[in-house]
Amino acid sequence: MHRYKTILRTRNKIVIKIGTNLLADKEKGINLERMNEIAKNVASLQRRGKQVVLVSSGAIGAGVAALKMKGSPKTIPEKQATAAIGQPLLMEAYENAFRKQECTIAQILLTKDDFTNRARYLNAKNTFSVLLDKGVVPIINENDTVAVEEIKLGDNDNLSALVANLIEADLLIILSDIDGLFSDDPTKNYNAELIPIVEKITPQLEKLAKSSKTELSTGGMITKIQAAKRCVSAGIAMIIANGKNPKALEEIFSGDFKGTLFLPAEKKLNVRKKWIGFVSHANGYIVVDDGAKNALLKRQKSLLPSGILEVHGEFKAHDTISVRDMEGTEIAKGVTGFSSMDLGKIKGKKTSELEKILNCKSCDEVIHRDNLVLIGEE
Ligand code: GLU
Repeated sequence: MHRYKTILRTRNKIVIKIGTNLLADKEKGINLERMNEIAKNVASLQRRGKQVVLVSSGAIGAGVAALKMKGSPKTIPEKQATAAIGQPLLMEAYENAFRKQECTIAQILLTKDDFTNRARYLNAKNTFSVLLDKGVVPIINENDTVAVEEIKLGDNDNLSALVANLIEADLLIILSDIDGLFSDDPTKNYNAELIPIVEKITPQLEKLAKSSKTELSTGGMITKIQAAKRCVSAGIAMIIANGKNPKALEEIFSGDFKGTLFLPAEKKLNVRKKWIGFVSHANGYIVVDDGAKNALLKRQKSLLPSGILEVHGEFKAHDTISVRDMEGTEIAKGVTGFSSMDLGKIKGKKTSELEKILNCKSCDEVIHRDNLVLIGEE
């Protein structure tokens, strides 16, 4: 446990995600008491020299309560309108709670494009950096009002992991209404046990993460595991803890808490690889044979055309694409040296044949090792 305590004490740039179920109730609206608690805890972390960014859900939930709606909004325009009503109410409540702690807050609403477009990504990064230097607490949500399906992330678990990567945080805390990751669904199986530490996210663990959606919230355990994957490979620790416990944050930093800690990978990816692997959007995918899969996973090789079986989607050279094995599991992401059209012609061919087929040859590798990030090892 000693190592984990050190991990937690030495974390200085922290993203805290607060789920809808902690903040908004369909009938009662925003839970002001909880918000005051959060503000108090965040202010105390700041006094200890930590920089904190909040990712807060609850806009749609607050909108539902304000409109006294019977059920949750179903259509996209309905959800967008509800979020437009709830977001200012949410921020008003945060403003009041943080004012009591003499903390200044800032609102940042993001969409997927702000992460996948490199220029916008860097702009957002600069804004965060100024806000954090000034001791402000940025409060993030997805820009639900404009985020239609194509540009929507859809859940704040993944959003918070992207924000953690963007600001180069060293810890993401997901506060939810459950204690952490369990060996089975705790609402159905009373023998389910809390998993305190996850050293590696295995396919078995992903299977555990059954969907546990509630009416107002968007994610379940599945999106939390996706968020953990985005974090740990980037060297960011992640914790899931129960935000209903008012002492949750305090206990995390004392190293003695109830919840699940996902340990960060020892070998950290560089900033460019982080972006390729966990931020940029894949414009298509290729399927590789077992030989190529082994070369990538076990022998640290680049990807050559000979191991490619199928090419899917339309993409240009230098786009990010995903690499899948024959079972359809994503094993890597990388920047392709060839367009989908050229790849279609050279798939399965030897490197020595490329020049003849394409009438010119730009590179030997489909994805060079330096541009490749492994997603899940065996
Ligand atoms: N952006 C949504 C909201 O504020 C929440 C998404 C989520 O719960 O993951 O209502």
